[in-house]
Amino acid sequence: HAVADGLGAVDRPTVSFELFPPRNPDAAPRLWATVQELAAARPDFVSVTYGASGSTRTTTRQLVRRLLRETSLTPIAHLTCVAASADDLARTVEEFLDEGVRSFLALRGDPPADGSWAPHPEGLPTASALVALLRDVERRRCASSPAQAVRAATRPLSVAVAAFPRGNAGSGSSREQDVAALLAKQQAGADFAITQVFYDVADYCELVALARDAGVTIPVVPGIIPTTDPARLRRVAQLTGVPVPQRVLDVLDAFDADEPADVARRHRAGTRMGVDLVNGVLDGGAPGVHLYTFNTHGPALDLLDGAGLGGDAPRAHSRVTPAAPDLLTV
Ligand code: FAD
Repeated sequence: HAVADGLGAVDRPTVSFELFPPRNPDAAPRLWATVQELAAARPDFVSVTYGASGSTRTTTRQLVRRLLRETSLTPIAHLTCVAASADDLARTVEEFLDEGVRSFLALRGDPPADGSWAPHPEGLPTASALVALLRDVERRRCASSPAQAVRAATRPLSVAVAAFPRGNAGSGSSREQDVAALLAKQQAGADFAITQVFYDVADYCELVALARDAGVTIPVVPGIIPTTDPARLRRVAQLTGVPVPQRVLDVLDAFDADEPADVARRHRAGTRMGVDLVNGVLDGGAPGVHLYTFNTHGPALDLLDGAGLGGDAPRAHSRVTPAAPDLLTV
């Protein structure tokens, strides 16, 4: 089934995870163990990020392919406009489709760390142009092959896009511009949006309200980072430009990072803050939650359990550290 069909159309919130491809061969077995653990929560989909270099793009493809072949999970392949001509992008999309991938997250991609965004000379300028290209490739394939058209009717293409509750820091655009961009993505054929990280329910609700006023009707799934590891949150703030609220850091920094028992308590306190955020956005009408896992299952699964979204599979073991059995009761 198409991913978008499950969003807002069922009587339970959707649950999904973001993974990145393993950064080196040693990380691959660990990631796969994480995938097995995350699968127990029966996610509606699992998205796989796409890097700027050729090698990380290859590992994205490998992970998406493995998820398709060896699990019952639905992978969403992220795709960006960076360093590729429109022809390159069309070829990449064709290859994904040939492998059976039916779900994409279409992004413009980040500008290089040292500069501002400039499209490839024969490339695409925005995510909405990439959405249009995805739809176009699919239309051409269906027009050229009746078998393809039949397959597409049973498994329609699903295209997700990004949305920004705290603004799109990388491009310095205003909230109005970001809402206009979201509307353009919908008009180009996006089925749903996933948000950048944020820490306040109001940020999500305000974005959705503004988007609805502007004519955006597609589901907007909040992207949530488990708030258990302050060092990670600080790194993400640098990368995304989304500041971590002092109230969150005050809670997490009060614990001693060198004391295992304290780390366990910090995990529990952080999970509680995450549960409040998840419950808040669901109360505010969110169709589900997309968790930024950073390829670690413990914080994501504990967050889902705390919010009552953990699925019914029994847990193999404590997800954090064997020394912290009390984590099972968040
Ligand atoms: P766009 O929608 O093209 O927007 C870029 C800029 O152009 C914005 O300022 C926007 O306001 C403006 N704009 C575009 N269209 C219009 C319009 N019609 N009217 C007015 N303004 C417009 N990056 C990666 O490299 N790899 C990944 O795997 C990846 N995954 C991500 C997953 C999620 C859920 C999110 C939220 C982000 C992810 N990113 C990823 C980061 C993303 O590529 C950057 O945030 C990028 O700077 C913006 O991408 P976009 O798709 O929103 O771009």
